Amino acid sequence: MADLNRVVAGIRCIEVLALLSDYLDGDVSQEVKERIEAHLRGCDQCERFGGQMSSIVKSLREQLKEPEALDEGVAKRLQERLSRELGII
Ligand SMILES: [Zn+2]
Repeated sequence: MADLNRVVAGIRCIEVLALLSDYLDGDVSQEVKERIEAHLRGCDQCERFGGQMSSIVKSLREQLKEPEALDEGVAKRLQERLSRELGII
Protein backbone atom coordinates (compact mmCIF):
# COMPACT_ATOMS: atom_id res chain seq x y z
CA MET A 1 0.00 0.00 0.00
CA ALA A 2 1.20 3.48 -0.76
CA ASP A 3 2.34 5.52 2.14
CA LEU A 4 2.95 8.99 0.88
CA ASN A 5 3.74 10.10 4.39
CA ARG A 6 6.94 8.12 4.22
CA VAL A 7 9.95 10.32 4.95
CA VAL A 8 13.00 9.94 2.74
CA ALA A 9 15.88 12.41 2.97
CA GLY A 10 13.97 14.47 5.50
CA ILE A 11 10.94 15.15 3.35
CA ARG A 12 7.71 13.28 2.84
CA CYS A 13 6.50 12.00 -0.52
CA ILE A 14 3.40 14.09 -0.21
CA GLU A 15 5.51 17.21 0.30
CA VAL A 16 7.71 16.36 -2.64
CA LEU A 17 4.67 15.98 -4.85
CA ALA A 18 3.24 19.24 -3.57
CA LEU A 19 6.49 21.08 -4.22
CA LEU A 20 7.22 19.49 -7.55
CA SER A 21 5.81 22.17 -9.80
CA ASP A 22 7.64 24.89 -7.86
CA TYR A 23 10.76 22.78 -8.06
CA LEU A 24 10.42 22.48 -11.82
CA ASP A 25 9.90 26.24 -12.05
CA GLY A 26 12.98 26.84 -9.95
CA ASP A 27 10.86 28.48 -7.27
CA VAL A 28 12.29 26.60 -4.32
CA SER A 29 15.33 27.33 -2.20
CA GLN A 30 18.57 25.47 -2.77
CA GLU A 31 18.00 23.51 0.40
CA VAL A 32 14.54 22.38 -0.68
CA LYS A 33 15.83 21.58 -4.15
CA GLU A 34 18.55 19.35 -2.79
CA ARG A 35 16.16 17.68 -0.41
CA ILE A 36 13.68 16.92 -3.17
CA GLU A 37 16.43 15.50 -5.35
CA ALA A 38 17.75 13.37 -2.53
CA HIS A 39 14.25 12.14 -1.84
CA LEU A 40 13.64 11.23 -5.46
CA ARG A 41 16.89 9.31 -5.58
CA GLY A 42 15.95 7.25 -2.59
CA CYS A 43 12.22 6.80 -3.05
CA ASP A 44 10.17 5.03 -5.66
CA GLN A 45 6.79 5.59 -4.08
CA CYS A 46 6.16 9.05 -5.42
CA GLU A 47 6.94 7.72 -8.86
CA ARG A 48 4.46 4.89 -8.50
CA PHE A 49 1.76 6.70 -6.60
CA GLY A 50 2.20 10.30 -7.66
CA GLY A 51 -0.88 10.30 -9.85
CA GLN A 52 -0.50 13.03 -12.45
CA MET A 53 3.01 13.69 -11.18
CA SER A 54 4.17 10.12 -11.75
CA SER A 55 5.56 10.60 -15.22
CA ILE A 56 7.36 13.78 -14.16
CA VAL A 57 8.81 12.05 -11.14
CA LYS A 58 9.88 9.15 -13.29
CA SER A 59 11.80 11.31 -15.73
CA LEU A 60 13.34 13.32 -12.90
CA ARG A 61 14.47 10.16 -11.21
CA GLU A 62 16.05 8.99 -14.42
CA GLN A 63 17.94 12.26 -14.75
CA LEU A 64 19.02 12.17 -11.13
CA LYS A 65 20.34 8.67 -11.49
CA GLU A 66 22.72 9.71 -14.24
CA PRO A 67 26.44 9.28 -13.63
CA GLU A 68 27.26 11.69 -10.88
CA ALA A 69 26.54 10.22 -7.52
CA LEU A 70 24.88 11.97 -4.67
CA ASP A 71 26.39 15.40 -4.30
CA GLU A 72 28.87 15.35 -1.47
CA GLY A 73 27.33 18.24 0.39
CA VAL A 74 23.92 16.64 0.27
CA ALA A 75 25.26 13.28 1.32
CA LYS A 76 27.05 14.81 4.26
CA ARG A 77 24.02 16.75 5.45
CA LEU A 78 21.84 13.67 5.06
CA GLN A 79 24.26 11.66 7.07
CA GLU A 80 24.34 14.28 9.80
CA ARG A 81 20.60 14.48 9.82
CA LEU A 82 20.22 10.72 9.97
CA SER A 83 22.63 10.37 12.81
CA ARG A 84 20.92 13.20 14.68
CA GLU A 85 17.37 12.03 14.15
CA LEU A 86 17.75 8.32 14.22
CA GLY A 87 20.79 7.95 16.36
CA ILE A 88 22.54 5.81 13.77
CA ILE A 89 26.00 5.94 12.21
ZN1 LIG B 1 8.66 9.64 -2.27
